Amino acid sequence: SFDQIRPLVAQHIREVRDFPKKGINFRDIMPLFADPVLVNELCIAIADHIRNSIGHIDAIAALEARGFLFGPQVAIHLGVRFVPIRKKGKLPGQTLQASYIKEYGEDIVEIQHDALKSGDKVFLIDDLLATGGTLRAAIDLIAKSGATVSQAFVLIKLAPLKGREKFPEVDLVSLISYD
Ligand code: AMP
Repeated sequence: SFDQIRPLVAQHIREVRDFPKKGINFRDIMPLFADPVLVNELCIAIADHIRNSIGHIDAIAALEARGFLFGPQVAIHLGVRFVPIRKKGKLPGQTLQASYIKEYGEDIVEIQHDALKSGDKVFLIDDLLATGGTLRAAIDLIAKSGATVSQAFVLIKLAPLKGREKFPEVDLVSLISYD
């Protein structure tokens, strides 16, 4: 369960000050991937959480790039589709777009137009919630394809940035929260 793995996962998150620039306290999750047993336990815990507290979902969606480290594994455990959400220009064919404001200008994320269908229930995964712009855009994208986000999950929430307030209508679960 989440309660069992939380302390162990927290021990595998490295704090890197002033990366990628001065003043940013970067949370590096790569040490987690040096422990494949723990990564697997984490992905099984997310899948169990979905089974026990949501029930049926049609797809797992995750955000480039670090959401891709978990999303497909959880989807495989559940036997459901994995849907990638990527930065503009990476996905071939027709896409849907959503934009969000970053510190310097606008960023655009995309989903393939036929990746989800109307009425699909989607579980959304990313590594970290900061200002919430990325998850807000992902939720908008999923809505554009007619699907709905049952719940969003992040490994880490940076609570003081109040990103949670950007998508009050969507349920959020975070494994670890930093003040
Ligand atoms: P935001 O849109 O502000 O919520 O930013 C979320 C995205 O930016 C996540 O997908 C993270 O990968 C990345 N990110 C933002 N802040 C940090 C941080 N302090 N440490 C690691 N990644 C971060």
